[in-house]
Amino acid sequence: MTRVGIVGGGQLGMMLAESAVPLGIECLTLDPSPDSPASRVAPAIVAEYDDRSALAELAASSDVVTYEFENVPVGSATFLAERVPVFPSPESLRFAQDRLLEKTLFEEIGLPVAPFSAVATPEELEEALDVVGVPSLLKTRRLGYDGKGQVRLASVDDAPGAWRSLREVPCLLEALVSFDRELSILGVRGRDGSVAFYPLTENVHREGILRTSRAPASVAPEVRDAAEGRARELMERLDHVGVLTIELFEADDMLLANEFAPRVHNSGHWTIEGAATSQFENHLRAICGLELGATTTPTHGAMVNLIGRLPDDLGLEGDGVYVHRYGKQARPGRKVGHVTIVAADRDTRDRVLQQVTLSADNVG
Ligand code: AMP
Repeated sequence: MTRVGIVGGGQLGMMLAESAVPLGIECLTLDPSPDSPASRVAPAIVAEYDDRSALAELAASSDVVTYEFENVPVGSATFLAERVPVFPSPESLRFAQDRLLEKTLFEEIGLPVAPFSAVATPEELEEALDVVGVPSLLKTRRLGYDGKGQVRLASVDDAPGAWRSLREVPCLLEALVSFDRELSILGVRGRDGSVAFYPLTENVHREGILRTSRAPASVAPEVRDAAEGRARELMERLDHVGVLTIELFEADDMLLANEFAPRVHNSGHWTIEGAATSQFENHLRAICGLELGATTTPTHGAMVNLIGRLPDDLGLEGDGVYVHRYGKQARPGRKVGHVTIVAADRDTRDRVLQQVTLSADNVG
């Protein structure tokens, strides 16, 4: 039986471990928390992510190691890679962890990005304001997620305070895009180089946090082909193995890249019930060298994040509506579960999505 080690035991690790069972794959996770979501479904090593003896134990107990978040210390990924195959490779992590490397790579492969400028000193901040202007976002190069590590600048006067509030770490100043929609593309690449894509997903964020996703997004075939072409090139450049997600802005029928995640992604949760093979199963298939599963979507899918706490009663469960609970303590702003929706047609899907969104919004 193949054994997969997963660095991180959050809900993504939990859903990876769940989808491993029918494949006959065993999972083991590493997470500092003794009651991580993944520990409900798979054995766990409880230790910090840079604990060398815990990493050695994970490597010794696994045939292949993966991770469920991109802020795994590169030193830990490299330490693991010296002992056991690690997919996606530490190279994918290196690019995904640094917004400057990431944006530069996007440009190299012909994927446009919003105008940006690197900022490491107050002088560079002034120069960046001359180039990028306002409104814009000052974002830390590293360790940002769910809208954390970024401040919006409405005027140049906001800049010095924003820089201080981000603790004067290396940043990027990035133009604010007035986008029509946010989209994401989820691709998966196998160890043999085979590639598959899920249909483009349309996402709505609030306060930097993903609220809802819908798929397939209605997009012109040439927009879809362009997104798939660039995502394929990115995966090939990184020799990426596993799922990779690119978050995109659509503005005036053009796609601009925001960031990529070298892992399964919140905007792909609809694939659990909405696609022939979920993103979690396909990630495992890819890293274990199995044939990729079909990414076809016989229905119209959607996903609503449950943020803060679980609603007492959605009143809809069962009718093409599936509630996934992560077993996490309620806390404002925390993702504690999600709802997936499948429907035979777009209108029904959107109607149910609206009802579920209303119920979920009560949770706040
Ligand atoms: P990020 O942390 O870069 O994933 O950003 C989180 C969310 O903030 C995105 O999904 C967008 O909704 C918003 N956002 C980030 N960058 C920009 C931008 N340059 N222009 C407009 N909105 C942005």
